[in-house]
Amino acid sequence: MRWGLIGASTIAAEHMVRAFRAEPGGTIGWVMSADAARARAFAADHDIPASGSDLGALLSDPSVDAVYISSTNEKHLPQALAAVAAGKHVLCEKPLAMTVGDARAMVGAAARAGRVFATNHHLRAAGTHRAIRAAVAAGRIGRVLSVRVHHAVYLPPHLQGWRLNDPGAGGGVIPDITVHDADIVRFHLGEDPAEVVAASCVSGLGQGVEDSVMSVWTMPSGAMVFAHESFTHRFAGHGIEIHGTEGSIFGRGVMSQRPVGEVEIVTAAGRERLACDDADLYARTVAAFAGAVAGQGAPLATGADGIASLAVAMAVRQAAATGARVRPDIAAALVPA
Ligand code: NDP
Repeated sequence: MRWGLIGASTIAAEHMVRAFRAEPGGTIGWVMSADAARARAFAADHDIPASGSDLGALLSDPSVDAVYISSTNEKHLPQALAAVAAGKHVLCEKPLAMTVGDARAMVGAAARAGRVFATNHHLRAAGTHRAIRAAVAAGRIGRVLSVRVHHAVYLPPHLQGWRLNDPGAGGGVIPDITVHDADIVRFHLGEDPAEVVAASCVSGLGQGVEDSVMSVWTMPSGAMVFAHESFTHRFAGHGIEIHGTEGSIFGRGVMSQRPVGEVEIVTAAGRERLACDDADLYARTVAAFAGAVAGQGAPLATGADGIASLAVAMAVRQAAATGARVRPDIAAALVPA
């Protein structure tokens, strides 16, 4: 698989370049940026043969099989539509787009063109979360009563830019982190919220966008979810707890981009540490994507998953802005556009 990178981004530099090359036969042919000089510098830093600011040039290169879109969020829609029109498969960063309607348009276009479209929700690829999901699915904690997601972290200084001050680029902790939490709850429970309530605030870093949010979701099964996301918490740690009628699962330090953290299950039989593999999250995501392109299996997080996570996040934002209970109609959002 030969990749074209759309976006000379931090996530591409820190994680994805390595992940694309970890796949047997995985190569990177292009990097594109709005700024040709930045694209050139990125290409030199990462040994990528072609670079530039012309998306059309990247997309017209027949040797590029798939693109990875990691530009700021408002650019994902036009770039994804252009890539699909050029016949490329697409791995797109979260949030897929600025609105659920735009995300549906991207995913629908890829489906009509017969291209693989995936969302880079990395937590699904974590050995910790896969162990949690397997334990829940095996009924080890009985019927799920509640989930607590604590994902209040500190935005590193080198990322303190558009996320904090540019709503037009998709800034704010809700599109940035709540989408991941919506996806991982979906992964573990296999359902989406029926209703959400929320409150958000600016707690030290945000300039014109929220940097902290707490929300409560009621699920169709009757389970409840509490989610806390922030950019301003230096020492809070992060994790997920899933509590059921027969046991509780504690995932500590598992809301990470790296294969770290630990998972413990507590039942009437006592405490047990669950075995978790330590595979690289992004390499596993890329491997599943390559498999899907080869006709073997599906991406770990599909386009539909990316639509659903965005719909939940936007419902949280609406609930926080209005104080109202909001019902995200995920089923309607998932009707092919
Ligand atoms: P960056 O701010 O590093 O990059 C986003 C864009 O900003 C780049 O594509 C680039 O535009 C521009 N840019 C980068 N550096 C500079 C600079 N020095 N000066 C001016 N512009 C610059 O963002 P991230 O890598 O953190 O995020 C990119 C996307 O990836 C977002 O959609 C985000 O939500 C997602 N993401 C996902 C993660 C995950 O684990 N799934 C983790 C982190 C981010 P251009 O390409 O035009 O040069």
